[in-house]
Amino acid sequence: MIPQILYFVKRKNLDFSCVLCYNSVTMPLKIYNTLTRKKEEFIPLAPPLVKMYVCGMTVQDRPHIGHMRAYVVSDTLKRWLTHRGFKIKHIQNITDIDDKIIEKTKTLGKDYREIAEGNAEEFMRCSDIMGIERADFYPKATQHVQEIIELILKLIQKGYAYTTDTGVYFDISRFPDYGKLSGKCIDDLKKGARVEIDDTKHSPLDFVLWKRAKEGEPFWESPWGRGRPGWHIECSAMSLTHLGETIDIHTGGEDLIFPHHENEIAQSEAVTGKPFARFWVHNGLLQLLGNKMSKSTGQFVPALDVLQKYEPDAVRLFFLSTHYRHPMEYSEERLKEGGEALTRIKECIEMLKERSAEAETPPKNSHFADELGDFWKDFEDAMDDDFNTPKAIGRIYSLIKEVNLKMGDIDANIAHLYKEALTSSLKILGITIKGKELDRFTPQLLDLILKIRQKLREEKRYDLADKIREDLSRLGITIKDTPNRSIPSL
Ligand SMILES: [Zn+2]
Repeated sequence: MIPQILYFVKRKNLDFSCVLCYNSVTMPLKIYNTLTRKKEEFIPLAPPLVKMYVCGMTVQDRPHIGHMRAYVVSDTLKRWLTHRGFKIKHIQNITDIDDKIIEKTKTLGKDYREIAEGNAEEFMRCSDIMGIERADFYPKATQHVQEIIELILKLIQKGYAYTTDTGVYFDISRFPDYGKLSGKCIDDLKKGARVEIDDTKHSPLDFVLWKRAKEGEPFWESPWGRGRPGWHIECSAMSLTHLGETIDIHTGGEDLIFPHHENEIAQSEAVTGKPFARFWVHNGLLQLLGNKMSKSTGQFVPALDVLQKYEPDAVRLFFLSTHYRHPMEYSEERLKEGGEALTRIKECIEMLKERSAEAETPPKNSHFADELGDFWKDFEDAMDDDFNTPKAIGRIYSLIKEVNLKMGDIDANIAHLYKEALTSSLKILGITIKGKELDRFTPQLLDLILKIRQKLREEKRYDLADKIREDLSRLGITIKDTPNRSIPSL
């Protein structure tokens, strides 16, 4: 019996005779795969392990709220797979050197490391506030230059890459599968390609693997002289290094399908001869006034600003109320609605808590209690169907409606069942219902404390500033002082 089937037998507590009727027992978990353009049953290569690579941030600027949607999506996917019994190995890169970061060093007059570090720390902070579970590891591009160089050397040896005066390029004519992810045809792309500034390339579609450094730019030594890696090769090298040749899931925003992910496939598969990622999961983008929220156009809302204004759970509810593959519009109105919905959820859970406080022994198997009807089945079916969170949340709302109607008639044990069903289904979605109003003010309070401390430092009252730093450290908040500001990490 193949390991995947054995795994499902174990996971579902079925006996072997039930294997053939597995699909009639429970719905298989299906994920839309950009590569095949259809929903497919998800079975990892070596269950229960799931190798997942999440395309991380390029930290040339502060994280915006559009980034957080992408990471809430990958977090929800991870939480659901964990609920289904899988063990996730999650790697998420940090691109800490690229053209845009170098551009910033020129406009801000700062070292690239300072820019990258400050923005990466703010990203981690927003990620923590949003309750996004941490990855197993966050590799940085600058810490993998050696692996990147070795990968490029292999591509040159195999005839997939060539060197010119400006750097090293991938020759897409050597990779017949080029375009398989995005569905783009090479001839059409060539026709549409803009007039190339770099005429050293064989074809305008060939992409850079290694860039020669210009005067004043950061550089690393390489067999092709001083330079830096191209963006696409960084992800291939980090995924191959930390997860091996074939991974189960690769996620990212849909704007990364072409050329970034198409190029990751070409580089990785040209070297290994094996499929790079089995499932490609892409989220729709968060738009601002109908346009992509983007750092390069300056049209974006910083994530921290939103998280200081709204409860993180409300922001999550706002994101998950739209299916992850659809684009969505950033809307303060809908964020407020998310907050109101959250209040109704909390009120219902509070009522159930009070009622269930009188319960004797809590009922054991809440999943199958008759009183909950088909709640768990509907919830799980929705999530198994390509993470249909709007439907799953809709089922939670209908359960709340039912509870509110019956509240006068339900006894302590049943109240406990309902409470457990609500809190655990919400937790699976990453909505923790902490119930403490103070939590929502934490980011603002922290900023206020840091501003006061900054003022003290400017007035050279270092004893008091140090005391605040020590006290915060005891609360688990570390402060790092830079010349212009203090950066906290929780
Ligand atoms: Zn990437």
